[in-house]
Amino acid sequence: MTLLLLALLALPSRAADYDDAARSARKLLSQLVAADTTNPPGNEERAVKLGERLLKSAKIQHEVVAFAPGRQDLVARLKGSGSEKPLLLLAHVDVVGTQDQKWTTAPHQLTEKADMLLGRGVLDDLSMAAISLEVMRLLQREHAKLRRDVIMVWTGDEESGGAGIRYLLDKRRGLIDAGLALNEGGGLVLDENGTLRVAQIQVGEKTYQDYELVTRGPTGHSSVPQAENAIYRLSRALSRLSHSTPPARLTPATRAFLRGQAEVESPDVAKAMRELADAQGEPLPAEALAALEQDPVHAATLHTTCVATMVQGGTRENALPAEARANINCRILPSETPDDVRRWITNVIMDPQVDIRMTKDYGAAEASPVEGEAMAAILSVVGKMWPGTPVVPSVSAAATDSRHLRAAGIPSYGIDPVPVTEADALRAHGADERIPAASLRQGVEFMHRLVLELAGPK
Ligand SMILES: [Zn+2]
Repeated sequence: MTLLLLALLALPSRAADYDDAARSARKLLSQLVAADTTNPPGNEERAVKLGERLLKSAKIQHEVVAFAPGRQDLVARLKGSGSEKPLLLLAHVDVVGTQDQKWTTAPHQLTEKADMLLGRGVLDDLSMAAISLEVMRLLQREHAKLRRDVIMVWTGDEESGGAGIRYLLDKRRGLIDAGLALNEGGGLVLDENGTLRVAQIQVGEKTYQDYELVTRGPTGHSSVPQAENAIYRLSRALSRLSHSTPPARLTPATRAFLRGQAEVESPDVAKAMRELADAQGEPLPAEALAALEQDPVHAATLHTTCVATMVQGGTRENALPAEARANINCRILPSETPDDVRRWITNVIMDPQVDIRMTKDYGAAEASPVEGEAMAAILSVVGKMWPGTPVVPSVSAAATDSRHLRAAGIPSYGIDPVPVTEADALRAHGADERIPAASLRQGVEFMHRLVLELAGPK
């Protein structure tokens, strides 16, 4: 009895710390939700003020960086021995709007309903911001010995192009320079029963790129049609595109994804995934490819995709159209460039009289290495907290601030620390965005352990 008691007393008081930190994270999360940092316009200074106050009271070194009027980033640093380059904990504090969405609660008020926390940003990405800050405070409180600096960055404008992170990289690189970054983009996926099914680590992103097709033709009265017609020419181009898909391509990240994902798929799909993951050279095994391509989500991981999303042409019913335009939205695999895809579109359309213009550049980057210390650390922590759960690297179709970090040479890994179901993950940007209330506690523990694995003493 006495021995048992002694053993219990000797246990680190971690559990209690996590409960306490989770309570603080929840309080901060509710303040961040209420701050309403809807972008546009952003108003991220409201969120930054909340974080600044907590960092100041915890005596953690920090700096507020304004990148536009009313818009700020927040950067905090815990010093390590400097034997390795710093670790960056990134989260954005702007959120998307709720206009025309049917919420059952007030979106800018954290509300608990049936063990779920609802509010705009609870998942994307305010909970990660709150958890990162609480982990910084935990580390400070326990005087954690660190082998590298840990830098927490709250960015603004992630949802509209990433002006916040781009400003830091362009103008204040020294403040956030790091050997490694953790960000949103991947996640801890729960099944319907609330058990962790898989940990998805985002190692790369498809590049977002729009192409505008423009055709022209002679104008005149529609009672006298001519051989040339801007709308017909555009239609021919679109028809050719509708029958073509850029070829399937396997990157190191896709192979790792297929191998990992095979562990949680049905036997048939798993077999096709493993066959593709192991395929050497061209052509890729056709049967396995065809099996996976039946699912549009899997197809999108194997291909660059391009699809027509808008079309306009002509000015009135009885006039020949001078011009017609279409927007083609492409999501490009990390191994390809927007110029490669422009060439592909040109070859498919086979019509030099169709102008193909690239509109707005959203930034692109190669994927981060699939092997390495970040993946090893995540594997280790997931293995301790949820033994036997597969860890799967992925390339996401959506974009985050990580593309700017990767383009700047900082390997970045997307792992949202808050466990949610796939269905709830899809509510990000939509109505009734929500997370399980219990996930905050798990998120704090996961993030704290992961940071110590990556930055604690070896
Ligand atoms: Zn986000």
